[in-house]
Amino acid sequence: MKKVLFFNPPGDAIYLRQYYCSQTSKANYIYHLVDFNILGGIISGYFDVEYLDAVVNKYDVSACLDKLSKIDYDYIIFLTGYVSFDSDFSIMKKVKALKNVPMIAIGDIVLSKADELLSENEFLDAAIIDFTSPDILNYLKGNFNEVYSMFYKKGNEIIRPTPKENSRIFSIPIPRHDLGMNYNYRHPFVKRYPFATVLTDYGCPYKCKFCVYSTFRYKYRPVADVLEELRYIKNLGISDIFFLDQTFGSKQDRYMELCDGMIKKGFRFDWFCFSRVDVLDHEMLSLMKQSGCHTIMFGVESANPALLKEYGKGYDHEKIRDTFRTAKKLGIKTMGTFILGLPEENRESILKTIEFSKELDCDYASFNFAVPRMGTELRMKALKEKLISEDNRKMDQSGSFITLDTATLTKEEIVKLRKKAYKSFYLRPTYLWKRLISINSLEQLIVQLKDGIKIIQNVILGR
Ligand code: SF4
Repeated sequence: MKKVLFFNPPGDAIYLRQYYCSQTSKANYIYHLVDFNILGGIISGYFDVEYLDAVVNKYDVSACLDKLSKIDYDYIIFLTGYVSFDSDFSIMKKVKALKNVPMIAIGDIVLSKADELLSENEFLDAAIIDFTSPDILNYLKGNFNEVYSMFYKKGNEIIRPTPKENSRIFSIPIPRHDLGMNYNYRHPFVKRYPFATVLTDYGCPYKCKFCVYSTFRYKYRPVADVLEELRYIKNLGISDIFFLDQTFGSKQDRYMELCDGMIKKGFRFDWFCFSRVDVLDHEMLSLMKQSGCHTIMFGVESANPALLKEYGKGYDHEKIRDTFRTAKKLGIKTMGTFILGLPEENRESILKTIEFSKELDCDYASFNFAVPRMGTELRMKALKEKLISEDNRKMDQSGSFITLDTATLTKEEIVKLRKKAYKSFYLRPTYLWKRLISINSLEQLIVQLKDGIKIIQNVILGR
């Protein structure tokens, strides 16, 4: 049987390039490569699969080339992204020189630049723009007439996707969670290791104007399939789950069925997820808690009502306060994520957001720079207001570098304000004490200490 190698190329930072959103890890966390697990599930039985994650294993380029030279593979699928494409493509040229096999790219940059990347890079053979599609199997088998959602080369020609209007419901074989089992993936919210990262839908049904997931055609998996995947994960010995769905609870009936299923089947997982404050009412939050949910990450974004309205968030600050209070009462931890540096922002609006993060009394806060992601309305606005140029490509939401000035703030001022946000939120003595006494295992203590140190190094002491 021919073998496909899934490869996460090395870099000089902890890159998170999975699920079409690339960034550097602000702290020390790095979670599973869902794209590879799902693609691995799709091709299993037809192709052997091997997996090399050079980021989590901290291999440098020469160590990678050495390892690759010892693996017998027939195709290579690699991750790349706006955060690191220069370095990724230079590494992949060396990999091609080592072994001349078809190379297939996946990552946020291929969503919008596949055509350019294929024309500019002779070594590149194809690009995947939907990793939940069965097209990869048809491509690898040479059934090109059945490939609808990929870019690929045929001789000198680039064949572009011819999307079919698929149903909103999609099924995939059980993802290959076993592939990443021996790697040191970690996340500060995990209560009990080992953990797994699970995706039950694709994209997001909401339309926030700065968000790349709003540009995907939203679709979701049958709950029965997800429960089957969870059974498989349970048998692998997994204790905690990171649901990577961007808005857990968005189709409430479906998510209630999922939580109900987890309870009835007695899985007893601990789990955490992303959601929105306006989709989780008391009933839903209670059911989530009963089925093992311990932490929810909510996009709060800004303390400024005009900005919430402008960017299509669709909820107000009373709703935010209310949902955070309810989660707390039920014993669910919360993280608020905030965007700093939208084009309309000024110093006062950012300071107000920092104060709001503390007022909410959330357990964690994440302050991110506004990033004009390809395909978003924020990007169109930034171009129109000449805050970026058309050829702007390099982007990182976590803030190893910053892309946008605002009307009244320079990039440097926004960076300083973000440092202030982190210091002001995390270095409160009452907060530090609360955090310390909430740790319930040595493993969690180690992960959280390492994350804390990285945040201080990268964000507070960094540039
Ligand atoms: S709800 Fe979250 S994931 Fe969905 S579009 Fe808005 S910001 Fe993106």
